[in-house]
Amino acid sequence: MEYFTLSNGNKMPMAGIGVFMMSPAEAEAAVESAIKSGVRLIDTANGYMNESGTGRGIKKSGVAREEIFLVTKLWPTVYEKETAIDETLARLGTDYIDLLFLHQPTDNWREGYRNIEKAYKEGKVKAIGLSNFPEDLLKEAIETMDIKPHVVQVEAHPYFPQTELKAFLAETGMGLMAWYPLGHGDKNLINEPVFAKLAGKYGKTNAQIILRWHVQSGNVVFPGSRNPEHIRDNFDIFDFALTGEEMAEVGKVNKGVRYYNGTPEMLAQYAKMELGPDL
Ligand code: NAD
Repeated sequence: MEYFTLSNGNKMPMAGIGVFMMSPAEAEAAVESAIKSGVRLIDTANGYMNESGTGRGIKKSGVAREEIFLVTKLWPTVYEKETAIDETLARLGTDYIDLLFLHQPTDNWREGYRNIEKAYKEGKVKAIGLSNFPEDLLKEAIETMDIKPHVVQVEAHPYFPQTELKAFLAETGMGLMAWYPLGHGDKNLINEPVFAKLAGKYGKTNAQIILRWHVQSGNVVFPGSRNPEHIRDNFDIFDFALTGEEMAEVGKVNKGVRYYNGTPEMLAQYAKMELGPDL
């Protein structure tokens, strides 16, 4: 395993699993299977409504909580709620979160930030981050808040490598977690000829080549999967390395296109979603 060292010295594994769009029972099974395969980084969110299943999966794996790097995200409708973080901890069945994000840059994010900062100072949260925030708001957080964000989570993959944002993050020491690392499973991306060529050379799958490219680019990856074989493969990317030339070759598939193209208005509407049951 390789690690990214956060600006507060904590170490975050470079590869893990995300449980977006899974029911609590699916998240439980996927997390248990992932941890048993060696995965130690788990990404969930209030908004996925499967934190309870994620917590059960961690317990069922039999691996000690301290060995797991658990990531979750506060949903905008609870940013200002004083008890939101304790309720998140209760659903996850743990007394601390390794990395807590604000999920979306809604108007009330500053109140939410003060809430996660307080939890950080109390030791309930070991690192804090901003998900889907544009560079101007990241700058504002760095300049005006007590605790600088440690990590940013954004869409990133070979079709949209986030080159400009990465240059900014490198200056600030913040880490990047790449969501949709496999293009949300898009076959056009996964089947790009360059990945098949490199997969043949290294005896790996196309998906493993993409994930290895991420890690060598400094991105933390946490692809979603319910398939135990894929879960294992997605973690088995630390026994080979792409050459500088191969990294540059992968860089050429950049199309400058995202999969998620919601307008700010659509996002604002979505962020009002009331959280449903998470059992
Ligand atoms: P992904 O890019 O990880 O793609 C997942 C899909 O790829 C799976 O459904 C599966 O069909 C396929 N796949 C997985 N492993 C494979 C393999 N080895 N070979 C071939 N196909 C494979 O997309 P995702 O799961 O939607 O995103 C990853 C994680 O990012 C989510 O689970 C979630 O934790 C996070 N996320 C965060 C945000 C945010 O707003 N912060 C938004 C979306 C997703």
